[in-house]
Amino acid sequence: MNLEHTPQPHADLTSRNTLGLPARAEWLSLPEDDRTLIALLQDTRWRSLPRTVIGEGSNLVLTAEIPGLVLCPQILGRRLLAEEGDQVLVEVGAGEHWDDVVAWSLSHGWQGLENLSLIPGACGAAPFQNIGAYGVELCDLLDSLDAVALDDGRARTFRHDECGFAYRDSRFKSAERGQWLITRLRLRLNRVPQLQLGYADLAARFAALPEAQQTPAGVRELVCQIRRSKLPDPAELPNAGSFFKNPVISSVQHNALQQRFPDLVAFPQADGKVKLAAGWLIERAGWKGRRDGDLGMHAQQALVLVNHAAAEGRHTVTGADVLAFAARVRDSVHAQFGVTLEQEPVILP
Ligand code: NAP
Repeated sequence: MNLEHTPQPHADLTSRNTLGLPARAEWLSLPEDDRTLIALLQDTRWRSLPRTVIGEGSNLVLTAEIPGLVLCPQILGRRLLAEEGDQVLVEVGAGEHWDDVVAWSLSHGWQGLENLSLIPGACGAAPFQNIGAYGVELCDLLDSLDAVALDDGRARTFRHDECGFAYRDSRFKSAERGQWLITRLRLRLNRVPQLQLGYADLAARFAALPEAQQTPAGVRELVCQIRRSKLPDPAELPNAGSFFKNPVISSVQHNALQQRFPDLVAFPQADGKVKLAAGWLIERAGWKGRRDGDLGMHAQQALVLVNHAAAEGRHTVTGADVLAFAARVRDSVHAQFGVTLEQEPVILP
């Protein structure tokens, strides 16, 4: 523990955001434990500065130097807290790499996280945007989390029902944005597997597996295969994952659209609304695999905006360039379908 931890001035964040955007933090802190973090937040020398939290930078668009104190928690640790009948309760630190936790849990025979395999980022960021894939969302497994208030360093535990979870959203991302730093998560996992195979692609591949591989580890392997085949590795082609959320529209609007586009990809929701596949809209608007200068939409997954310049080692594309390009994609989807796409990554500052 280092209570004298001093933030680094004017720190380069280019390698700390997966879009490879050139940006800096006025002051960057990498706290490794709660005491260091809380001491820093309560230190009068830093009291007047704005505070921003980042994780592994896999869902960020950095548009300029981030003013004040930028906190990137490195709090590690994974442990079994309790065994409760068919379930276990585990606790993981915010600085743990998400996919390492997925692999670790499955290696102990604790099931539940396999559909969320290979989602980039740190554990602390997972509840922030309620990560989800293949019909499973973090909120299905989260028991509670610990956080500290950015204004005065007070610690608080949030139960699942206090986190304001919604589709790719939470209290921490929306209602109380910028107010909390998540330090630790507790997850409730299964000892008796309950596989989630509602997504057609995953279900078909799973059915084709030999019976001995029809396990949670088998699901993880399939999810990793699908993701690797469709999603660009940020180390090779910088990106921030899905750049737009799947829009949810009324059934009336959906019916009208389906008349015009009989092959529209859509999923009815429990509340009567309909979720559209944003990737399908972007593809049909002509953006799949299209490169315009240094930016483009990925050839295998139209939802992913990619930074070709950074792939070529040039960090010349700015956050403003990314937002201008994304606005063109959004405008053309709106012009064709009358549907407004909402951006998924967080824009900073
Ligand atoms: P896909 O299988 O081609 O399906 C396209 C979209 O249709 C998905 O976005 C998914 O919505 C929706 N969908 C498919 N089957 C569904 C079902 N049975 N019920 C409800 N909705 C269904 O998807 P993909 O684009 O390759 O992505 C696969 C999964 O990985 C998705 O869950 C996606 O969200 C996730 N993913 C996340 C990121 C990220 O960076 N955050 C990037 C790529 C993919 P949902 O997105 O709501 O699941």
